[in-house]
Amino acid sequence: MIKYLYIGVDDTDSPDGMCTTFLASQIINKLKSHGIDLIDYPRLIRLNPFARFKTRGNGGVSFKILNDDKVDLAKRIVLDEVEKLSMFDCDNTNPGVVFYDGEITSEMEDYAFRAIYEFISIDEAYDFAKSLGCEVHKFKKGRGIIGSLASIALPLSDCTYELLAYRSSDNYGTKRCIDYESVYRMDKETFPDTFENIDYSEDYIAIEPKTPCPVLYGIRSNTPDVLFKAKEMVKVSEPIVDWCIFKTNQHTDMHIQKVSKISDMKQYGCYCVRGEVKNTPKIIDGGHMFFYIQDDSGEIECGAYEPTKNFRKTVSYLRPGDVIEVYGGIGEHNTFNIEKFKVIELNDVVFENPICECGKRMTSAGKNKGFKCKKCGNRLGVDDKVPVKIERDLEVLRFYETPVSARRHLSKPICRF
Ligand code: ATP
Repeated sequence: MIKYLYIGVDDTDSPDGMCTTFLASQIINKLKSHGIDLIDYPRLIRLNPFARFKTRGNGGVSFKILNDDKVDLAKRIVLDEVEKLSMFDCDNTNPGVVFYDGEITSEMEDYAFRAIYEFISIDEAYDFAKSLGCEVHKFKKGRGIIGSLASIALPLSDCTYELLAYRSSDNYGTKRCIDYESVYRMDKETFPDTFENIDYSEDYIAIEPKTPCPVLYGIRSNTPDVLFKAKEMVKVSEPIVDWCIFKTNQHTDMHIQKVSKISDMKQYGCYCVRGEVKNTPKIIDGGHMFFYIQDDSGEIECGAYEPTKNFRKTVSYLRPGDVIEVYGGIGEHNTFNIEKFKVIELNDVVFENPICECGKRMTSAGKNKGFKCKKCGNRLGVDDKVPVKIERDLEVLRFYETPVSARRHLSKPICRF
């Protein structure tokens, strides 16, 4: 039987530089130069979006090689590169490397999903890895072992790909020289096989990171093939020193747990839940928009934050009585941060004051006192309000999502549904 060695690497970067994917691509090049090829694409796995010590997108990297007479050399290469390139000066950079040479078990898969849904301690990850017979390498606190093991173990029933192109180190921290027109052309030709390239509503080039990391751009897709064409189409006027395609769980909604009632949700979890809109969405100072949804088990405040820009306008179309399914996560203030919602039912009725026999619209006769006609004095009861159907700006069974510029790595865009 063919045996493999799984290698997981995480927590090597800091907000000031490096990127675990770049380090992985350096390792992969070194392995290749020693005649060690990867089996399948390297994997970039996004974990719990609420993890406290993440640098940006909480991504861990893993890859797989044959477990043959070169594994010791491969392990040496991995550890040397992690030691050489990690941002050790940053307090929050605590690299971890895991080597595993067995089969992926269902217990490991459960662990990986927990790393997406919950928080895991370094000790727990260490003990679990040891119980599996993994070789575990902790640098400083070694927090990276949590993500390293999860990125080895996560099953990818759905996956996407990302091509990452890397800059020359001389250019780190400087403005990226990408020809934006060529990105628009690439998007026109390759969407929806590639996606998340551009946020048209904000005129925002999403393939370009805004941090001083080694990434020049990242193009996301459903298949690896289209990425070669996309890379040819994107024109840049600075050197690309390396590039690498990763298989990922990005944009799969793997972080979302479907629950049947609001009270089943916990803080720092990501869910899809159905509820009835309780009140008209309101915008507060700072531009954040909030409203409540409710069901028989309780209620929760939902938020569409300022960075979601025009999405707030869509949210403002919601009315009390509408039934929606919201997708998102419960953050710091126990508010459900909406990534997208699906309309299940629309409340398209408003109740108007009745019209009197004389043709004039009646007015309220006081609280709970029904209606009266100012012209002829006629009176009607409280229940005599007249239902009137109204036009709505939302459609039943349609999804509405945050713009590309505000989208989470794990969030599945409508174009992938
Ligand atoms: P980048 O996306 O730029 O590579 P990052 O946002 O992935 O950076 P890391 O440097 O990987 O950030 O830091 C995230 C840390 O959180 C890692 O040490 C990882 O092991 C840890 N971590 C990941 N998932 C969990 C979890 N569920 N519970 C606790 N810690 C976690």
